[in-house]
Amino acid sequence: MDPTQPAPPTSNITVRRGEPLVVVEHVDKHYGELHVLNDINTVVNRGEVVVVIGPSGSGKSTLCRAINRLETIDSGSISIDGQKLPEEGAALAKLRADVGMVFQSFNLFAHKTVLENITLAPTRVRRMSRKAAESEAMELLDRVGVANQAKKLPAQLSGGQQQRVAIARSLAMNPKLILMDEPTSALDPEMINEVLDVMVGLAKDGMTMIVVTHEMGFARKAADRVLFMADGRIVEEATPAEFFDHPTSDRAKDFLSKIL
Ligand code: ADP
Ligand code: MG
Repeated sequence: MDPTQPAPPTSNITVRRGEPLVVVEHVDKHYGELHVLNDINTVVNRGEVVVVIGPSGSGKSTLCRAINRLETIDSGSISIDGQKLPEEGAALAKLRADVGMVFQSFNLFAHKTVLENITLAPTRVRRMSRKAAESEAMELLDRVGVANQAKKLPAQLSGGQQQRVAIARSLAMNPKLILMDEPTSALDPEMINEVLDVMVGLAKDGMTMIVVTHEMGFARKAADRVLFMADGRIVEEATPAEFFDHPTSDRAKDFLSKIL
């Protein structure tokens, strides 16, 4: 083999923009009798956008939460940027700071203004000065299109605006990776696109993202790869075009026939 040439791809996935950032190996987790994660293996490279889809109860949220160590795993390993997930303590806090998380339910601090929601972690965890944190926060709010809402409380914003603030808040920590768990599922239909547009922008900017969503338009536009989960397993892993146009498993065909 010519050593100056890159190694041949080990799978049919050709989009490999960078080095592995998230490595998930043989991950198992049970809730009592329920095998919620069953031998999960996947690698997310820097700059990749991975969309996770699958029926309700298939383990998508549990996988996201395990990657952020909001959940423990029974066996296997998860590493981020070459480091195995720490159990607890300062190392875990550091990991959390490097991994942004956006939930279905926004989870903004209700009694803090939009601006304070963004500056809280950078000033406390990153020890940034208030002035620097506020100026950066205003740039982020501008980037997600809600700079004019900075002084308001979250409840005064629409759901779409709140979710864009939540995305800006995760960006404020300058994360290596952003996990999004059904970020548009709680939104009224007319607000979904304004949030998806922000997500597509992040993807284009090269943010590494793992996104649980059933928004096929987003997956086709932004995803490098789709993971289809069912019953705690990754049943299919393919490019969006392959997955949506030629699903191979009966589970995926059945699922797609119900949502498309
Ligand atoms: P998804 O996000 O794909 O809908 P989840 O990861 O939320 O699936 O859940 C997978 C399965 O694990 C479901 O059957 C759910 O009821 C179960 N489950 C999730 N969290 C817990 C928990 N804390 N205790 C017991 N069972 C749970
Ligand atoms: Mg879920």
